[in-house]
Amino acid sequence: MVLVPRGYKVRPVKKMTHSPPRIVVLGSINLDLVIRCASIPRPGETLLAAAAAEVCGGKGANQAVAAARAGGSVTMIGRVGDDAFAGRLVANLERENIDCQWVRTTSQCASGLAIVSVAQTGENAITVVSGANARLSAADVAAAQDVIAAADVLLVQWEVPLDTVLAAMKIAHAAGVRIILDPAPTPKQRPAALFDAALFDVDLICPNESEAAALTGSAVETPEQIEAAAAALHHKGARQVAITVGRRGAMLWTGEKSAWVEPFSVTAVDTTAAGDAFAGALAVFWAEQDDLLEAVRFANAAGALAASRRGAQPSLGARGEIETLWKTKK
Ligand code: ADP
Repeated sequence: MVLVPRGYKVRPVKKMTHSPPRIVVLGSINLDLVIRCASIPRPGETLLAAAAAEVCGGKGANQAVAAARAGGSVTMIGRVGDDAFAGRLVANLERENIDCQWVRTTSQCASGLAIVSVAQTGENAITVVSGANARLSAADVAAAQDVIAAADVLLVQWEVPLDTVLAAMKIAHAAGVRIILDPAPTPKQRPAALFDAALFDVDLICPNESEAAALTGSAVETPEQIEAAAAALHHKGARQVAITVGRRGAMLWTGEKSAWVEPFSVTAVDTTAAGDAFAGALAVFWAEQDDLLEAVRFANAAGALAASRRGAQPSLGARGEIETLWKTKK
């Protein structure tokens, strides 16, 4: 059965012709304080950790780096603070050839900060202090209107204010630019805004299992539940859905049919940024080849590569590395 989502609008997207594809990422830029520990501390527990490191992160920045390394021509829209971290965060993006002219400095504000605990098993737990990311506004987006309208793909997440995300999506819609939404982090309490159909009016949504569960209010574990969640997200308005399921790969729902996209077998040492690797690589490949199923396969390779290495941005693969792994299954 083909479900027709409520408020579904058939909106033509323009043919993607730029080479390399133009990807605009609107999102967060953080400094990650990464703590390696035997296990993730439980409430009330104090653990001694072997090491800590300061590294550049943020879902938006990670996905921008992932897309740039996967071969995209990437522009970042975001905000940093006026603290000591800001220059380092922007220089880091520029080193990846990401255009940062739309990354603004916020006076009297700290840059975003994330405390990332990584357990020996590779699992992670993350606390984010938004800082300047919370100040990214619809006016910032309006200033970057032309660059969004000229993009092949707009890639957004929810680590910046939802109104700002919606403002960017509106520009992309008007210009026929394809939108990919990684709905992360998904708030624990579901604010009224999450019931706003406009937030789901995207060409592709790519949650992981726990995000899909939070958004649909149902368990998302078994293959049947994963398919039901994809159908529900499609019903909310997303034209296509790719649910990432860690070492089990991903499930793609195109509105008419679903397909399981097999994972690549790797030894996982740290799954931080696997989802970011997936989203960035997916945006580039989909823009290049207009073949979503193959793009998800390519993104699975990028995700597996990231899971097989330590860290967030350091774990993101270059185009050649992703292709080498991807071709093992072609
Ligand atoms: P997130 O980081 O958002 O939780 P996932 O853990 O689902 O996202 O990972 C994103 C993608 O990365 C998966 O769909 C899968 O293709 C790949 N991936 C993640 N972990 C592994 C793993 N242990 N082995 C192989 N592939 C993995």
